[in-house]
Order: sequence, then structure tokens, then C-alpha cells
Amino acid sequence: MKDTIEAAKNRLGKKLLILGHHYQREEVIVHADLVGDSFQLSRMAAERSVDSESGGELVSGCETIIFCGVHFMAETADILANSPSNLAKRGGRRVDVILPDLLAGCSMADMASYDSVCECWEQLSTVIDISEVVPVTYVNSSAELKAFCGQHGGVSCTSSNAKAVLDWALSRYKRVLFFPDQHLGRNTALKMGISMSEIVDWRSGEQEFGGNDTSAIRGSRILLWDGFCCVHQRFLTGHIDEIRNVIPDVRVIVHPECKQEIVAKADDAGSTAYILKRITESPVGSSWAVGTEGRFVERIAKQNPDKIIVNLAFQPSYCSTMGLITLENLAAMFQPIEDGKPINVIKVDTKIAENALIALQRMLEIS
Ligand code: SF4
Repeated sequence: MKDTIEAAKNRLGKKLLILGHHYQREEVIVHADLVGDSFQLSRMAAERSVDSESGGELVSGCETIIFCGVHFMAETADILANSPSNLAKRGGRRVDVILPDLLAGCSMADMASYDSVCECWEQLSTVIDISEVVPVTYVNSSAELKAFCGQHGGVSCTSSNAKAVLDWALSRYKRVLFFPDQHLGRNTALKMGISMSEIVDWRSGEQEFGGNDTSAIRGSRILLWDGFCCVHQRFLTGHIDEIRNVIPDVRVIVHPECKQEIVAKADDAGSTAYILKRITESPVGSSWAVGTEGRFVERIAKQNPDKIIVNLAFQPSYCSTMGLITLENLAAMFQPIEDGKPINVIKVDTKIAENALIALQRMLEIS
């Protein structure tokens, strides 16, 4: 299968771009042309899917992106790669974005549905001036929710630019409705100096006002949806105590999708790209315990053999849906592409894509 994939890649040349998220399996990621986190891959989808000049010659443009990641990432790639300006550059030709397994979703993204966010917005408008609220969605969300943000003056964010996005939002609006990840929202707000009393949890299962009394909503600056990532929520403060006992000079670094008490107790926290950079640039011989997705931690350890790098929890935490992309289903994508009948194409509805693009372009502009 490895040979089949590489031979097909050679035949397709620049017409094909394979994007791989850091949490992918090792046997899959080795075939990716570009590897990154959500933010980096979004930029790559926007920029690398158009023709470019190389030494005066026009390089044959990309026709297909295979996205080795999860569903919301492929949707984002479709919206950005097929934006009106990119379509114009290609003379109207679309780029097909393919997800090798259509079941590869994200449980966090599924925790905020479009209807439930609209219902929340309706309820909020009965107790506060809704024109003072701006919706901010973590990029780990459906295209419909990004469109909701685009339609309401809002923006998308990633863990790399969440603080910059909240700064942008709160300099223009009195309050933010942040979804779906409560932990990224809470950790970022606290880092900005917003007090706990100004952060209100919106419990999406509650019938009225997210289980809050209206005075709490009126006093809020950040309204937090109650979504979470099951991979990152698994880390406990006890894991930090244990690892510090075993490796006394260890530095603990975690992703901001971890709970607030984990981020507070760790030595450092940041996005996937930040964690990779921080460890790669650390001195030879340094020790790190990393609180994020297991396959990614194993890859950083392999790339940094001169350092001690361990998973923060002794049992690594793997993202099961990222793991649905396998060598088998990746290999199965090539023949249909070469036959001109690609399968598993993710195509976002035009109207939704138009509004979601507003939120995504703001996200890419704020760094
Ligand atoms: S690691 Fe968590 S947030 Fe990322 S895709 Fe998996 S379930 Fe979703």
C-alpha cells in the first residue's frame, strides 16, 4: 500500500496535495505533503491550492486535497480552498477536498449543534442586548456554526490564536459567546485577566438560560458552551504529581483543551504547534511530560531523541476519530481520483460556505 500510494502521488504530481494533522497515525503522516495543526493546515489549504509562479513558470495547480484529519477540518479546507478569490484565480475550477473516512468526526464539535446555539442566542436576546454579544467558535465546529459567527459579526479561532481573537472580540463587543470548547475558552479568558465571576458556564442540556439566573448572564463577559475534548479532558492533576515524583526536573507542558486546574498546575501550555516548537527548541537533555494527544507525543519523542519526552498520563490518550484514517482507506482514495471520479468529497453548501468564510478569514487575519 505504501508503494501504491507513492506511485499514485508521483503520477498526480502537483495536482494532488495531501494535508496531515499532527494527531494522525505515523504510517499515514509519512505520506502527507504538509503536516500541521488546525491553524497551519487552514492556511495551507487557502494558500497552496492555487497556482503559483515558480522561476517565471506557472506551476500546475492543485486539483485535489486529501485531508488526513477529521470532518470539520475537511470542511474548512473546502471553504478556504474554494473561496471566491481562489476560484477566480483558477478560472472557476473547484478543488475537491477528500476525507478518507467519512466517519472521522470530532466529538467536541458534535457537542454544539446549530439549533442549540440558535436557541441559546434567542434566550440571551431576552435578557441582554444581543447586539453587545459576539459569537466566537473554536475551529473544531461545524461549518454551520462558523456561518452563524460570520452572520453575527463573529469569528472562528484556533488554540494558536484564541487569545488574540478574544482580545479582538472584547475590544469591539461587551460579551463573547464562546463554543464549543469550555476549557479553551476558560483558560484563554483567565490568561487575559478576566475573573471567574465574569465567566458564565452555559450548560446546553438545561432548559432555561443554560442553568443560570439572569443576573449572572447580565454580569458576564464570557459565556462558555459546555463542550470538551475527551482526549484532553482525561488528564488529571494527579498525573502531574506522579510525573514530578518520577522525573524531578521534568517540565510539564499541556494543551489548553485540558481542564483549567491542569493548565494552572503545568509549567507551560499552548497549541499543538507551540508544544512542538517549545520542545524542539529546548536544550539537549531536557525532560518533558506532555499533556496532549498520544500519537503526537510519540512523534515528538521520536524527532527529539536527545531529550526525555513522555506522555503526561502513563496511559496515552489517543483521538479515536483521527485514528480512523488508515493506510488502507488513504490508499483507496487514489484510483477514483485518477479515474476522474473522486469519492468521499466534502462539499459545504454554498450559502453556508459564504458566511463561514467571513469567520474563517477573520481568524486567519488575527494572529
Ligand atoms: S483530539 Fe479532541 S478536539 Fe481534536 S479531533 Fe479528537 S476529539 Fe476532536
